[in-house]
Amino acid sequence: MFLLVFTLSFALSLALPAAHALPAEVHVSLFQANNNLSKLIIDGPHSTDSSGTSSGGHCEFFIDKNALVSKERQAVVRHFSGRCVVRGTGGPLLLSDGNKQRRYRGRFVITIERGRLHVVNVVDSKSYITSVVGSESLPDFPLEALKAQAVLASSVLARHSGSGALGDTTEIQAYLGSEYERPLAKQATDAVFGQELKNKNGFTAAVYYHSTCAGGTSDARQMFSGKAQKGVAVNQIKCDYCQASPFFKTHSVTIPVAQVKAKLGFLPIAVESEDWQKRPMQIKVLKADGRSAQISGYEVWLKIGQKLGWDTAPGMRYNFENSKKNFILHSSGAGHGSGLCQWGAATMARKEKNYRLILKYYFPDCTCTAAQ
Ligand SMILES: [Zn+2]
Repeated sequence: MFLLVFTLSFALSLALPAAHALPAEVHVSLFQANNNLSKLIIDGPHSTDSSGTSSGGHCEFFIDKNALVSKERQAVVRHFSGRCVVRGTGGPLLLSDGNKQRRYRGRFVITIERGRLHVVNVVDSKSYITSVVGSESLPDFPLEALKAQAVLASSVLARHSGSGALGDTTEIQAYLGSEYERPLAKQATDAVFGQELKNKNGFTAAVYYHSTCAGGTSDARQMFSGKAQKGVAVNQIKCDYCQASPFFKTHSVTIPVAQVKAKLGFLPIAVESEDWQKRPMQIKVLKADGRSAQISGYEVWLKIGQKLGWDTAPGMRYNFENSKKNFILHSSGAGHGSGLCQWGAATMARKEKNYRLILKYYFPDCTCTAAQ
């Protein structure tokens, strides 16, 4: 998977408690990108807490008159508690929302939340990290790059431990199920399981990663807040290891101004400030009521991705020009550009750098814990 990793929860992660440990089990909300999950299809041998017996096959969950209902072999069960737990009894189960289907290990807690189905996968930490490593990398990424990815995935997991179910998209980190537990991802996770990045104070570091920085990384605190950090060590790393990435070169698109205004609710008119890598920090926009306002470059980039499509500006290093009719957007890289550059890490691994050197390069102030 190639990933625009755009973590929204930077402020949240700063507020998390200082003690972090890897949980034994991880809770992940599946089909997070589907805002209207109305049915859930489960295939494969399983048991449910309502029947207690093992079933060979196909089961559908849906909502009927505000009640959680399942249908299996023509038998319809109303789950009066509003909750059903499904366990695979013969390996990973195939789950589908009617559109995407993926295989997952562990058990599934199905409930109704705000009028729609909600399914949480409860899976052991090692399987979760292995799947994240596979979901967040390309099949040809080398072992040492995958080890670095596994340490980062563990650090992200440890910091979110105790703060509820994670999502399955790149908003935190992508988790696409057991089919992404590729052999090399498994080998990497097995080799470094239990290791994480610590900050100078000895706590699990707030780490970020992205696909392609295209020249250098940006400091996460500056970029997510859109403000320069005074008196704080800024983590900005020069990187030309990612030149092989298809996102390294500048990508330009032309969109009618009217369409930009209609979709975003504003028109970006000028970059007011930018960081050392020319990632915009503050942007002046013209709002629908004709007034101007300042919005952080990161917020504008997220809005462009959400409303105009993530391929419009794959990278957070972007700028634009306006003619009377058209908005012309230029961007390079892919993802937000903070922390580890995944394509850079892959090249470093091919140049015989081990995962500890890769992590030290992108996170010079952090230390990877000792092998267990
Ligand atoms: Zn890079």
